[in-house]
Amino acid sequence: MPTSADAAELGEFELIRRFFAAANCARPTAGVVLGIGDDAALLQLPAQHQMVISTDSLVEGVHFPQTADPFLLGQRALAVAASDLAAMGANPLAFTLALTLPQVQPEWLSGFARGLDLMAQYCGLSLIGGDTARGPLSITPTVFGSVPEGAALRRSGAKVGDLVCVSGSLGAAAAALPLVLQHSRVAADLAAPCIAQYWSPKPQLALGQALRLYATAAIDISDGLLADCTHLANSSAVAVRIDLAKIPVFPVLEKFLSQAQALECALTGGDDYQLLFTLAPQDFFTLQTNWPNIVVIGEVVVGDGVQLYDARGLLVSPAYRGFEHFRSVNDR
Ligand code: ADP
Ligand code: MG
Repeated sequence: MPTSADAAELGEFELIRRFFAAANCARPTAGVVLGIGDDAALLQLPAQHQMVISTDSLVEGVHFPQTADPFLLGQRALAVAASDLAAMGANPLAFTLALTLPQVQPEWLSGFARGLDLMAQYCGLSLIGGDTARGPLSITPTVFGSVPEGAALRRSGAKVGDLVCVSGSLGAAAAALPLVLQHSRVAADLAAPCIAQYWSPKPQLALGQALRLYATAAIDISDGLLADCTHLANSSAVAVRIDLAKIPVFPVLEKFLSQAQALECALTGGDDYQLLFTLAPQDFFTLQTNWPNIVVIGEVVVGDGVQLYDARGLLVSPAYRGFEHFRSVNDR
């Protein structure tokens, strides 16, 4: 535990210096002209590039429990924000951190900064500034990246006839949530890989960049496959047909959930941060050579919303358990 003397002596500027300015991820890197320490940071974009910017807040009691481990929180807060850069096909550049803390606890800050630093290095993001204030715990990273002019991936470009793909297996983070909140328990060896997926999702930055050549539309799966498919379909003014049997459900789930529950986690649970994207059929095989984990789950068709088909090729009944909130789309 931190001593009270420790905490009392640690003012705002000392806190910033010790935990953030001194972190490995705050070292100057290419593209960062000026980092932490002035009134604002300066970034240099390569010629003919556009800046990509996204921000995400994590608030205690809303996005994570009070008991959350600070190291894991640091990792997750940045991963969630960085995933939006991946979804846009951006090259990662830098991030700022707005942090509101109820009190200064050096031990908590040190764990948080280590988790943040690890994810920053994994993502290739430099910490270039932020803001530190007192109040209920909330963590708001803003991430910056770049893309060649006009090359950013958007939600709006899907074309009828495109394949619909995901970058990897789904459902682990949703299945982990009751375990993280300690509402239920399963054997440690089954829980561990799901909880790891929840706390340290891996933003698909390299795939996102590769997709600039192929994808017609892309989104990261933060709200759940169905919700994010609906966003993509609506933005592109098309319908997305998903074959349930093709969805890559995180394999461990079927060891402690029924098949239907596991599928429900994959369909409606958020927080996996895989990419969902569309591309022309002829581009799939080229892409798959370098990215063997990508999976085709359906196709883009005329219409609107998302249509779910079961293994027999039948449109899934809207009353099917778990898809109730989806009724309006399938009822049309
Ligand atoms: P100002 O008052 O000019 O906004 P601050 O006193 O808030 O500046 O911050 C001083 C410097 O420390 C700035 O460069 C700012 O970006 C940086 N900074 C503040 N809080 C953080 C943080 N949590 N992480 C990283 N850098 C931070
Ligand atoms: Mg200032």
